[in-house]
Amino acid sequence: MTYSQKEKRREYDKKRYQLNKEKILEYNKKWREENKEYYKGYNEKRKERDKKYRELNKEYYKEYRELNKEKQREYYKKYKEENKEKIREQNKKWREENKEYSKKRREENKEKKMEYDKKYNELNREKKREQNKKWGEENKEHRREYRQEKKAICLEYLGGKCVKCGTTHNLQFDHIKREGKKYEISSRVSNNFDNIKEELDKCQLLCAPCHLDKTAKEWVDMYN
Ligand SMILES: [Zn+2]
Repeated sequence: MTYSQKEKRREYDKKRYQLNKEKILEYNKKWREENKEYYKGYNEKRKERDKKYRELNKEYYKEYRELNKEKQREYYKKYKEENKEKIREQNKKWREENKEYSKKRREENKEKKMEYDKKYNELNREKKREQNKKWGEENKEHRREYRQEKKAICLEYLGGKCVKCGTTHNLQFDHIKREGKKYEISSRVSNNFDNIKEELDKCQLLCAPCHLDKTAKEWVDMYN
């Protein structure tokens, strides 16, 4: 049979298979069901045989691996590159399915991981610092805007004007009583509103001059 004849034959077989796929699959399934026992034994036997074969040819395999190390590595690298998405999906799925195992492994390797992280951080401290700095520079404007927005929410919550003189300019957060003050609002104004609400409820809004005035009076009272 020539090559082209063979190709033709293959093409024909493929077509026939496609046309009768359902039937063939059904038939194969039925056949396997009926010969379950035989197959069971067969699989076991085959596994045993493969194992023996590998054992006998251990040296050969070892040599083969050794000789094709580079090739193998190249192949894996290429495969990884080409199937990045697929591999990521697979890994994710595997982790989902083996949550318990992963958790156990993490517990077991906690010490090791900590040790590794420490070493890594030490080695890459400069790099990390550079990265953080760069990120900070790049997001300066964004951070400022974000803070402004958050601050506006807090100001509005407290009435939006100075409780003494009524101005809406240069407003500051003032703790009505010194006692019970946990922190300066302005230092955490970017935090989640719900988290700072409790502290905000201890405050009022004062403009800068009124705030200075109040603080001065408090100082005077404290030392008299
Ligand atoms: Zn005022």
